[in-house]
Amino acid sequence: MRIAVVGTGYVGLVTGTCFAEVGIDVTCIDIDQKKIENLKKNILPIYEPGLEEMVARNAQKERLSFSTDLASSIQGCDVAFIAVGTPPGEDGSADLKYVLAVARSIGQNMNSYIVVVTKSTVPVGTANKVRKVIEEELEARGVDIPFDVASNPEFLKEGAAIEDFLKPDRIVVGVCSERAQEVMKKLYKPFLMNGHPLIFMDVPSAEMTKYAANAMLATKISFMNDIANLCEIMGADVNMVRKGIGSDVRIGNKFIYPGIGYGGSCFPKDVKALIRTASENGYDMKVLQSVEAVNENQKSVLYNKIHNHFNGDLAGRTFAIWGLSFKPKTDDMREAPSLVIIQKLLEQGAKVRAYDPVAMKEAQHSLGDSIEYGKDEYETLIDADALLLVTEWPEFRSPNFNVVSKLMKDKVVFDGRNIYDANDLNEKGFIYYGIGIKQQV
Ligand code: NAD
Repeated sequence: MRIAVVGTGYVGLVTGTCFAEVGIDVTCIDIDQKKIENLKKNILPIYEPGLEEMVARNAQKERLSFSTDLASSIQGCDVAFIAVGTPPGEDGSADLKYVLAVARSIGQNMNSYIVVVTKSTVPVGTANKVRKVIEEELEARGVDIPFDVASNPEFLKEGAAIEDFLKPDRIVVGVCSERAQEVMKKLYKPFLMNGHPLIFMDVPSAEMTKYAANAMLATKISFMNDIANLCEIMGADVNMVRKGIGSDVRIGNKFIYPGIGYGGSCFPKDVKALIRTASENGYDMKVLQSVEAVNENQKSVLYNKIHNHFNGDLAGRTFAIWGLSFKPKTDDMREAPSLVIIQKLLEQGAKVRAYDPVAMKEAQHSLGDSIEYGKDEYETLIDADALLLVTEWPEFRSPNFNVVSKLMKDKVVFDGRNIYDANDLNEKGFIYYGIGIKQQV
């Protein structure tokens, strides 16, 4: 089979590379010329564990190629994936201009039957818009070429994207013809060996499934953060509560870790977009509105603890920050809670020295030289008034606290992810603040 993947970001690059890995002939297309030139030299635009080697291997075998030329790359393809961004517009709705621009180019250039698949996260009804745009272009060309539009939302997690793509919990595909279903079945066959289900459904249901999944996960996070905040007030320990409820299989032990709010390119925008879709159609998503409000509040929780600890006297103090990306194992800084915390500290005249294993280059795009960047996690601590654990990278889990304590001016730790043990740190002479844990004095 031959496929084109249009949009070579997190999703497009992983999708294209994983299809090439199982022997499919893939062209990854992007309008960003620099990105494509770099990819041809095996320089990746993103950090994703294992991806660089996989891209190199498949490019070398000539199963994976990169191009800016959609017109020629689309010729003779069985499937064209649209994997471009769908950022939030002013009103929170998903901006479809990139998706529809790609659909238009496909309509202008396709020469044989093709299944056009939206992999981008798009609101219900988008496949119809894609179909209409392609029909308009075919009509303008005066040709009648059959095609189908399908919806195949992506559930990969940044940081574990390859594993998620190659061994998916499920693959959801919305189709409106048997022909498209057969093509998609053939395409995904290599991924079904270990019993991963391929779930076919109608197109609107597939489009909705992605939003429902992200909204449910965001809800679990905000719910648990609300419980954590109440635990603190009431003198309970959310770590205990989490274990207590997580052992109930109806609740499950995943995604119930309190912290400093969700970020990234998906949850914030998808929750907003779903609320917007509902309101445009006369329905009020009350739970999700609260999920969003709790999350906004949660991004300030760590800063509020810092402010209280130092009685608002933050000017001139130095804060060491461990972790900048919105979660571990990615360099994605989109909507990262670290940005909110850093901005608040800088506004108060504090100094910030940060270290992240991979996201510092990406962070520099938005933070520039407003903060210092450490060579490693220990360097950030020199004469620091406090350490803020913001992203729970594995290498931050068991630092040498004797070294930490010698380097810092004041032994204060604000743990935004509850990865350290409060008693342990107290015994080592640190003042420890976690999320949802009663402060020990
Ligand atoms: P991204 O911003 O990393 O990549 C999008 C790419 O599309 C960019 O390289 C951009 O240059 C390219 N592009 C834009 N217009 C184009 C055009 N006309 N022709 C060719 N290329 C074009 O975005 P992403 O994170 O990969 O997300 C893509 C979609 O997948 C979004 O809808 C997102 O919600 C969804 N999604 C993302 C994730 C994730 O973890 N990042 C997971 C699941 C779903």
